[in-house]
Amino acid sequence: MADFLITNGLVMTCEPDVLTGPIIPDGAVAVEGNKILEVGSIAELAARYADASRIDASGCIVMPGFVITHTHMPYVLGHNMPVDFSQLKSFWDMLQKMGWEWLEDITTGEGIYAATRYAAAKMLKSGTTTVCEMVEGPNALPGALSQSARAIEEVGIRAQVGFEVTERVPGVSILERLDPARAERGFEENLALLKNYPAGKEAEGRIQGRLGVHTAYTNSPETLKAARELADTHGCGIQIHVAEIPRAFLVEKYGKSAPRVLEETGVLGADVLAVHCIDMTDEDLEIFQRSGVHVAHTPMTNSLGGNGVARVPEMLERGINVSLGHDCFFTLDTAEYLRYAYLLHKAHNANPMLLPPFQALDLVLGNGARALGLEERVGSLAAGKRADILVIRPDAPAPVTPDSVLSYFTMTFRGQEVDTVLVDGKVVVDQGRMTTVDEEEVARRCLEEAKKLWRKNGIDV
Ligand SMILES: [Zn+2]
Repeated sequence: MADFLITNGLVMTCEPDVLTGPIIPDGAVAVEGNKILEVGSIAELAARYADASRIDASGCIVMPGFVITHTHMPYVLGHNMPVDFSQLKSFWDMLQKMGWEWLEDITTGEGIYAATRYAAAKMLKSGTTTVCEMVEGPNALPGALSQSARAIEEVGIRAQVGFEVTERVPGVSILERLDPARAERGFEENLALLKNYPAGKEAEGRIQGRLGVHTAYTNSPETLKAARELADTHGCGIQIHVAEIPRAFLVEKYGKSAPRVLEETGVLGADVLAVHCIDMTDEDLEIFQRSGVHVAHTPMTNSLGGNGVARVPEMLERGINVSLGHDCFFTLDTAEYLRYAYLLHKAHNANPMLLPPFQALDLVLGNGARALGLEERVGSLAAGKRADILVIRPDAPAPVTPDSVLSYFTMTFRGQEVDTVLVDGKVVVDQGRMTTVDEEEVARRCLEEAKKLWRKNGIDV
């Protein structure tokens, strides 16, 4: 007995992957509870599930929801903030001033709640159904994660959530001093969340904990080892920024690159999601290969910081699983990041053969699901998987057919073409409108919190 039958769409199963997964022209998807019951042709499924409520997807694409593996939702409070860009001469300046001083260190629990509701709703409306969120805000402890989780609960997106463990002391240069007691507070925050939102293969929840660790350069080897222990005890995996700054920084400190430090402290493993991964040597890539680490590629923020371009085509060639993240620094529309990644590596390597449309789409579907250990639940449309489903109404100047649909995603697709979104079998976006929250109220409250944050930076608003 199905609850919903999504009918008459161009169904992209993306199972087992985008390239080989069947595309069904007059397809249908049957949903029961929070799971997909069956995927097939309308001719087969219409009779079998005659009593189910229909969602008519005529003229639409039906596909799995997008998976974005690196977000900082509270960052939306800093969107468009008029700051003195002349102070930002390097990524190091951006991290210390824009990232820490002007944003994270003045982030409050109310700000986290308001921004997370806004960002999660915007992401759902543009087709992102799963995110991996790392909350940063040392002065919002304790309780930062409960605000984040409360917002995610309300909005209805699927998420893995953690707080960044860091020894960094707000207002003090990390070159001057780190404080392990700070890391302790971060661990406690993650543990408190994991109590309510357990992780691991058996955990059924839409929200799960995933331990956040800021970096190898803002934590001592002892803290990194403790992170591995916690992840093993709770089966929650680790999310950590890796090699977003030139390796000279860590080489000066330890005589080793970040991947080497992380391997030697036992952090690396198949449950690790490494974010950015730009300044990577061949040896670093080999470390990732042998440890089974997953990568969250964040091309737009890396470009903004002048950090360089991650060696994504080589990573994929080596069998390293690469997914897509975006830090919530620009728009929240996956289409923009997908297109940027699709183009960037061609331009950077002067090679139009790199990252064809199917491979770009895999970054935000199966690869994203694998990166989070959720490959048995999301990333494709198949019986038994969670019903995280998009109905997209293309606004394209030319036909969208089984032969052209992959190019549609890299050429013209925009998030606003997403019509209906299901997460866990529940309609959370209906004809472009959120069903779970009052969008206007969410936007108003986010704006108020943004103003409060800006004022703390001396901006008259
Ligand atoms: Zn980040």
